[in-house]
Amino acid sequence: MIDFNYVAKLLDNWKNTWEDYSIDQSLIVDDQQITNNFNQLSEKLKNNYPFHHPCYAGQMLKPPHPLAVAAYFTTMLNINPNNHALDGGAATADLEKESVKKLANMFGFDDYLGHLTSSGTIANLEALWIARQINPNKSIAYSNQSHYTHSRMCEVLAIKGIGIKTDKLGKMDLFDLENNLKNNDIGTVVTTLGTTSTGALDDLKQILILAKKYNFRVHVDTAYGGFYSVLSNLKGLEVFKAISKADSVVIDPHKHGLQPYGCGCIIFSDPLVGKFYSHDSPYTYFTSKELHLGEISLECSRAGAAASALWTTLNLFPLRENEGFGAILNKTLQAANILSQKIKLSNDYILLLEPQLDIVCYFPKTKNMKSSEISAKTEYIFKYLENHPTEPLYLAKLKINKDIGIYDENIHWDTDTMTILRSCLMKPEHLDYVDTIFDRLTKAFLV
Ligand SMILES: *Cc1c(COP(=O)(O)O)cnc(C)c1O
Repeated sequence: MIDFNYVAKLLDNWKNTWEDYSIDQSLIVDDQQITNNFNQLSEKLKNNYPFHHPCYAGQMLKPPHPLAVAAYFTTMLNINPNNHALDGGAATADLEKESVKKLANMFGFDDYLGHLTSSGTIANLEALWIARQINPNKSIAYSNQSHYTHSRMCEVLAIKGIGIKTDKLGKMDLFDLENNLKNNDIGTVVTTLGTTSTGALDDLKQILILAKKYNFRVHVDTAYGGFYSVLSNLKGLEVFKAISKADSVVIDPHKHGLQPYGCGCIIFSDPLVGKFYSHDSPYTYFTSKELHLGEISLECSRAGAAASALWTTLNLFPLRENEGFGAILNKTLQAANILSQKIKLSNDYILLLEPQLDIVCYFPKTKNMKSSEISAKTEYIFKYLENHPTEPLYLAKLKINKDIGIYDENIHWDTDTMTILRSCLMKPEHLDYVDTIFDRLTKAFLV
């Protein structure tokens, strides 16, 4: 699909406009040593799950698109710009601004302040940090199904974090939220659109209504789910349209955005929050009067190559409903739907929840339906499938308690938590593979 030799040489003409120089001897390595090293490296790298293949249907891991990698590679190999400051990478700073604009427009923001980060965790930290600067003495609420880093970052920021209950569907429980709003001084509510565990979508519309009544900021963590905004015309996904009314949003292009790791993004709806970033650094000097990205970021050095990769990807895979990202995500959504339908009709497995995005959670039936038995059978199936010599299937596991799930089966809870199976069907290739996945689950149940 793409020739990396071609990509490596793309900037040769430009580089050759400077006079010749030779690479220092101290940097030269013997050819045989290079071969040996890379042979060793490739052997070591085999100690991984096959993330590229549809038989990997476990964690939230999706291979980057080779074109994104090629853009990253040519940028890094030839230039390695640093998007901290304009003098570290003017070109990639522009690519970052253009890419963030596309993401912001996807969410319905016209006026905004945003930039890329090295991860969703850092992007969320930034959102919570700004939330604390605006409401210094108020607490931050997030659901018990929100990403674990929210409570951790509240510790880092020395601000009180409040966990809100979730309902059977894994969504923030609005009654519990309102109770907490009445009894605590909550300055910000983190709303998750696409929880990491089950892909549940918090009711952002209702939370925005409560925000008017109780006067709090709304931060949307859609690190995993955010790209589904392109499908917000579909039934069940309309909630993504409400992001345009939120105060801040986090999306991770390195989750569903076909990017190599090192690409998160934070966007604020009010550009004036830029004032909280002001710092006076003696070593990041200016080459222009323009605000540079380092001035609106918590982090200092960041790979400009990440901006090249995202820019290339968003050019070649537009954020549209019926092509580009929409075409890809339609397939992942369908794959999850088909798998969940099959599980619902099966005699062997029980579906935890109707999937809202592309995560499907389920568990095997057992004789006495004790939670301890179900956990044990889950562990057995999980190991059996991942160790199968010819027809492997790689799944993930999830620990749940009795508060979540809409199955009718009477489970006898003899343990506090129960381990179940979880599959992220994040690759479009999962659609054609879903029969195989179900087939392997069925066979595994019988052993
Ligand atoms: C993955 C994820 C995060 C953390 O992002 P990283 O890029 O892994 O640091 C935060 N929130 C949600 C909802 C996520 O799915």
